[in-house]
Amino acid sequence: MAEHENESFAEFCARQKAGLQLISEAEQQENDYKKTLKEARENRFERKYQLFYDNLDLILRNKEEILATPRYANIDAHYLLKGCGLYVGHLNTARQFNIAGNVIIINLRLASLFKIWETDQFRVQCECGTPTFIRGFAGSPLSGGSQASAICPKCKKIVRVDNRSFGAYCGIVNAAYAEDIEMFAKDLMTKWTLAEVEYEKKIAQGKSARWFTMGDAFKDDGEICELETMINELRLKEFDASASIE
Ligand SMILES: [Zn+2]
Repeated sequence: MAEHENESFAEFCARQKAGLQLISEAEQQENDYKKTLKEARENRFERKYQLFYDNLDLILRNKEEILATPRYANIDAHYLLKGCGLYVGHLNTARQFNIAGNVIIINLRLASLFKIWETDQFRVQCECGTPTFIRGFAGSPLSGGSQASAICPKCKKIVRVDNRSFGAYCGIVNAAYAEDIEMFAKDLMTKWTLAEVEYEKKIAQGKSARWFTMGDAFKDDGEICELETMINELRLKEFDASASIE
């Protein structure tokens, strides 16, 4: 039981007189909660990172289908590409926006990761002859030097790449991520416009404005598709295809 939980205003004043802690018990509880959440999130992304690169061959084989399927194309991919630099810190492809008190996180999308991988800067060939793609880089904006690595989807070997332009790595990722932010903003505006149209239509049909609001007409994309689900669906699809050939 926390010491200051349910304290009365008089008790609070007495504590203030005695020298109030800079961070209250309640704030400390909230901070502890956020710390636990952050650790759980880090573990989750580490697990997903492993899963993704363990299944890289399957994912690349199905790239066109992924791009053509919005619930796959929009999957959060921010943790799949790690970049950092001297003075500039870690690459941020999952920015948090506070919009009217709501935390909105805009992530780099899987489709954008593929787009980044289409550039020569991020492509590399494994010794075994298989093309693969950079998943991590570090460097310096001053010297422009860098070190990067990829994992081969076929033989699973780590491929090292030295001294490609650090600025080019960052520039390509930033441009792709900026497009994701733009897409989010435009999509939100479109959804609100659709909500307005839907609302006007319902009111014209005689629905009561007391019971049906513009907020009711505002719709999102529905359930989020997780990476785990996509991988499972792609596996099943390939299994079905090979079964029907036999
Ligand atoms: Zn290889």
